[in-house]
Amino acid sequence: MVLGEGRFQISDFSKTPHPAPPHADVVRGQKKTRLAPSPTGALHLGNARTFLINWALARQRGWRILLRIEDLDGPRIKEGAAVQAAQDLAWLGLDWDEGPCYQRADLAPYHQALAQLRNAGLVYPCQCTRKMVAAALSAPHGDEHELRYPGTCRGRALAADAPGTAWRLKTADESVVFVDEYTGPHASNPHREVGDFVVATKEGLPAYQLAVVVDDARQGVTDIVRGDDLLPSTARQLLLYRALGLTPVPHYWHVPLVLGPDGRRLAKRHGDTRVAWYRDHGVPFERMVGLAAAWSGVPGPRRAMEIGVFLAEFKLERLPRTPITFTEEDHLWLLQK
Ligand code: GLU
Repeated sequence: MVLGEGRFQISDFSKTPHPAPPHADVVRGQKKTRLAPSPTGALHLGNARTFLINWALARQRGWRILLRIEDLDGPRIKEGAAVQAAQDLAWLGLDWDEGPCYQRADLAPYHQALAQLRNAGLVYPCQCTRKMVAAALSAPHGDEHELRYPGTCRGRALAADAPGTAWRLKTADESVVFVDEYTGPHASNPHREVGDFVVATKEGLPAYQLAVVVDDARQGVTDIVRGDDLLPSTARQLLLYRALGLTPVPHYWHVPLVLGPDGRRLAKRHGDTRVAWYRDHGVPFERMVGLAAAWSGVPGPRRAMEIGVFLAEFKLERLPRTPITFTEEDHLWLLQK
């Protein structure tokens, strides 16, 4: 299939990146979700399945879909990966109603949010080592080790505008309670898990936790569907909604991940599991969708299918509650002629 042909119009990607839509795009009462790839590498089979679930939920329930490229997320952003991620999504058959918007295209909303937190005395400057601060830039995914910040700079009279100053949100020793639409009730205590966490880095960029909250709020995102490795981030994000006085908070839907045979989150260590690798090896998109369907509780024998069939057959109630393991048989099934 030729990219951009038929249903999918992806020619927009050659244009200059445009910033996030303004508030005017937020329609009262309209539910909205976002597909938020981080161009830190190409989309792999696990991400693809989460995006397919997100997309199908949205299309089944009439939510608008925004494509937001999270190009602040991580020091590992790769040239061309944003376009590639969107092309991979379009190739699989996903579409969206708004975007792509790029976080990096306009940093002003994040700076405003930081200024608001500073004025309210809810954050403090921190000059701890680069390593402790750098860890906060990316979205923390499940099996990455997170350090608990002991609060070293809290209460220190540091010059706020000295170069190399990061900003941390003051956390209280309290439990944050929320009900996930898929996994049910949760209680967690960010103060004990990670301590005062970074909201802006030494480089003057918003950290993942701040960027995602600022964007979801101003873009009118009501429903966030993502891998459950980001479940621990939710309480931190809710603290930021509160600190910034943002309402209403979105609904969260955390779905189980696809793991490698070693039980760890699917990643480079498991070989080349990129959607693009399979496409380049002649695997049709229907097979990729078929594998995602088999991994998502779509009944019947494993078979190649178009995204429209996935949409008709996918039911959240049938989504396996436990993680899926990507096996050698799955790989061989994809490559079958
Ligand atoms: N861009 C983030 C990631 O890929 C997703 C963040 C989110 O869904 O909140 O890790």
